[in-house]
Amino acid sequence: MITDWEIQGILDEIKRRECKTVVLQLPEGLKREAVHVAKELEEKGDVQVVVSADPCYGACDLVSFKGDLLVHFGHAPLPCLSDEDILFVELSSELDVFPLLEKALPKLKESVAITAAIQYVPTLSHAKQFLEKNGIKVHLGEGDSRIAYPGQVLGCNFSAPRAVSEDVEQILHIGEGNFHPLGIALATGKEVLIVDPEKNEVRDISELKETILRQRHAIISKLESATTFGILVSSKIGQKRFGLAARIKDMVEKEGKKAVLFLLDNIDPDYLLGYDVDAFISVACPRIAIDDFAVHKRPIVTSIEAEIGLGARKWEDYAFDEIPGPECEI
Ligand code: SF4
Repeated sequence: MITDWEIQGILDEIKRRECKTVVLQLPEGLKREAVHVAKELEEKGDVQVVVSADPCYGACDLVSFKGDLLVHFGHAPLPCLSDEDILFVELSSELDVFPLLEKALPKLKESVAITAAIQYVPTLSHAKQFLEKNGIKVHLGEGDSRIAYPGQVLGCNFSAPRAVSEDVEQILHIGEGNFHPLGIALATGKEVLIVDPEKNEVRDISELKETILRQRHAIISKLESATTFGILVSSKIGQKRFGLAARIKDMVEKEGKKAVLFLLDNIDPDYLLGYDVDAFISVACPRIAIDDFAVHKRPIVTSIEAEIGLGARKWEDYAFDEIPGPECEI
């Protein structure tokens, strides 16, 4: 929920920068608030507001028309893509994590790293104090240049927990859903316990990790019979990995198979239906291959999975397809 306090902060920025045109970019869950925020800013800030109506999935996905100020809601900036014309309104969750931290205590080992999705990053320092008072050694890892805060994780970057994984026995993640903790488990090889305030539960990721790995193994095995590959590159500023796409194309061609690069903004399965390819390799957001595979008519894998499927990497070396900070400095 976007509060009056946050709207006032935006109005102060509009006044300070003497803006005439402001663009709003909101993730799906906040779109219902767009009209209210736009009208408040127009009436109180005397500006023209444009709401970006394209889907927005992360801070990697910034609209090109920014007006005098782009106000991007719900995500932290990617420091490697920082831009003075963007105001990030991060919005933290109001759910109380402490009853769940208390519930997690008996399941925690002696030394843990704590991580959070952006909505829960503000709770990390209090969570650390709480756990330390209960005798647990707590580490907060510093991420790379794609990560704004210690302990923060993105679905494409787990550099913060990886930075401290050798010092801990377990990772405690505060957030909703399974994608982030799954990535943490694969990136660190550690046991991951989730404190999920939305579901009001503490759960372990290990069973799900095994299920997803079995699913990925089944999809990767289909690459063997594929002869023509489509390599999907996103035109979004923070996902555009042409260098990786070229390397993967080279690898496919060395195996005597065909590969073509496809450039899209949103990787929508309907846009890909007409192309005569047997399988897709996505070098865009890793969620696309892993979370959305069921909506694609043909196998879709990450670049790391393509390496396994084409024999350039062993299954034992399976890894999440992360986007490191330096790779987005484009
Ligand atoms: Fe989020 Fe995907 Fe963008 Fe990473 S690439 S910031 S996981 S939307």
